[in-house]
Amino acid sequence: MSKLKIALQKSGRLSEKSISLLGECGIKFPNGGGKLISESSNFPIEILFLRDDDIPQYVEQQVVDIGIVGENVFLESQKNINIIEKLLFSACRLSLAVPKEISYTGPDFFNNKRVATSYPNILKAYFQKNNIHATIEVISGSVEIAPGIGLADGICDIVSSGSTLLSNGLKEVEKILNSQAVMVATQNLDADKQLILDKLLFRIRSVLKAKENKYILLNTPNKQLEKIIRILPGMNSPTILPLAKEGWSSLHSVISEDKFWDIIDELKEAGAEGILVVPIEKMIL
Ligand code: ATP
Ligand code: ZN
Repeated sequence: MSKLKIALQKSGRLSEKSISLLGECGIKFPNGGGKLISESSNFPIEILFLRDDDIPQYVEQQVVDIGIVGENVFLESQKNINIIEKLLFSACRLSLAVPKEISYTGPDFFNNKRVATSYPNILKAYFQKNNIHATIEVISGSVEIAPGIGLADGICDIVSSGSTLLSNGLKEVEKILNSQAVMVATQNLDADKQLILDKLLFRIRSVLKAKENKYILLNTPNKQLEKIIRILPGMNSPTILPLAKEGWSSLHSVISEDKFWDIIDELKEAGAEGILVVPIEKMIL
């Protein structure tokens, strides 16, 4: 029987979360000991651990069928592969930054300047689109030190909190793109492997959906029930159970993580008590 081959980052910012995502999908595999290939004992999948930058090429060449990389790496690679799912972790952005003492007025600043980056393709496209003529200095790591050592006037690099920029005397001035971990796939998957991938995607979507939602339980006086139901944008109509306490009910529903804090305030104002919010492990829709 055929097996699906997936490439994950060997060690780095995506590794742990990629491995736990497969774990949350119920896929068991030995991991550790610096192994490069691992095979699942309960799902037809083989896992290869690679440098993230190599993953798009391996997928394009069908050494592996799918992989998990940052959108930034996917876009920079310019390979003929597809994003099949956004995975909602490792959110970051690719931005331009300049020394903090510069009085920055707009992208025109970069005209006739030198910009250091590990993302020359994305940056070139950005400069072309904005009609900016700049020199791109390609370096593979520690980009943030380039202005300090006189290699460049600015940089284009991954930012999440901005603390690395700050500690190198830089400030973020333009966001070029938002990124998150994505699953990429070859454009030519045979039917057997497609079936396995469909199974895997079904599990991944259930896990992601569950992470985006919370299960909420609360108690309410019956006279407030209708008002509270209107506040809760549940996936279906909420479950209502009578409490032993006369004139009170317990209400159960699912709410999206995003809306969580706003809704909690509204619920309290409407008279809800004993509010419990619990994580959902899997959500099958
Ligand atoms: P490798 O040795 O595999 O080439 P790397 O050093 O290129 O690793 P990491 O720093 O581990 O890569 O980052 C991997 C990916 O994680 C990045 O391509 C990006 O999508 C994302 N990422 C990078 N920095 C951050 C951050 N500070 N916060 C969140 N996600 C990030
Ligand atoms: Zn890398």
